[in-house]
Amino acid sequence: MNNENQSIYEFDFNLVCEYFSSMERQGPGSPEVTMKALGFIDNLTEASRIADIGCGTGGQTMVLAQHVPGQITGIDLFPSFIDFLNANTCRLNLHGRVCGIVGSMENLPFEAEELDLIWSEGAIYNIGFNRGLKEWNHFLKKGGYVAITEASWFTNERPDEINDFWLNVYPEIDTISNNMAKMEKNGYIPVASFILPESCWIDHFYDLQVAVQEEFLIKYKGNPTAEGLVAYQRYEAQLYFKYKAYYGYVFYIGKKM
Ligand code: SAH
Repeated sequence: MNNENQSIYEFDFNLVCEYFSSMERQGPGSPEVTMKALGFIDNLTEASRIADIGCGTGGQTMVLAQHVPGQITGIDLFPSFIDFLNANTCRLNLHGRVCGIVGSMENLPFEAEELDLIWSEGAIYNIGFNRGLKEWNHFLKKGGYVAITEASWFTNERPDEINDFWLNVYPEIDTISNNMAKMEKNGYIPVASFILPESCWIDHFYDLQVAVQEEFLIKYKGNPTAEGLVAYQRYEAQLYFKYKAYYGYVFYIGKKM
């Protein structure tokens, strides 16, 4: 198979999990950016209920827990990511307030209007931005917030190579203005959007993968799936460096009407 046309979803589930589980993050982001997004949210108290959906190993969950009051539930499909998160909550003495659970963003274990805040960094694409905003709205209290990062186009036109790549892996990728309109359409006041700095991709995501890739290639020498996974990640990073003027991650903050 040509790796350049292979989507991350087609690789072996366990290998993908192993590759990413040794990293603090599984997507672009940083503690500074999580804090910046938090700056737009003003409704939290010790009684607040917060969900971090697609939390991965919980890099941003820990930042949230250290800076906001309330109970935080991290949810992810991969059990080993949740084990990692729960081990960290004990280590940081946050286990009374933070709990990681295995579950799907398609079938969230919350009551209607239970949540004050839904956080989701680099994960909503798994069900699509529009669908996620629409379905998750049900679980938020009136006046509650969503804070979500999503890969977005910066321009209306772009070179074919990067356009075709994204249309293959995530055809729902859209411009910032269209995504703000989707928030509005799904019952949120669009409070803010801001572009994540390049360092969120480079220093906090791609650079961290270099050592992981080398170890992975030694451990799985001759395994075409593992080698394909590394080649795919390297290709994705190369595309980012070539076309970062045209796309990036954007934080979207909305308030339920
Ligand atoms: N928020 C983390 C992880 C982002 S990667 C960070 O920014 O570092 C996307 C995460 O979504 C992965 O951990 C993946 O396991 C999770 N995921 C994928 N599909 C999911 C689903 N249906 N429900 C819950 N989590 C899912």
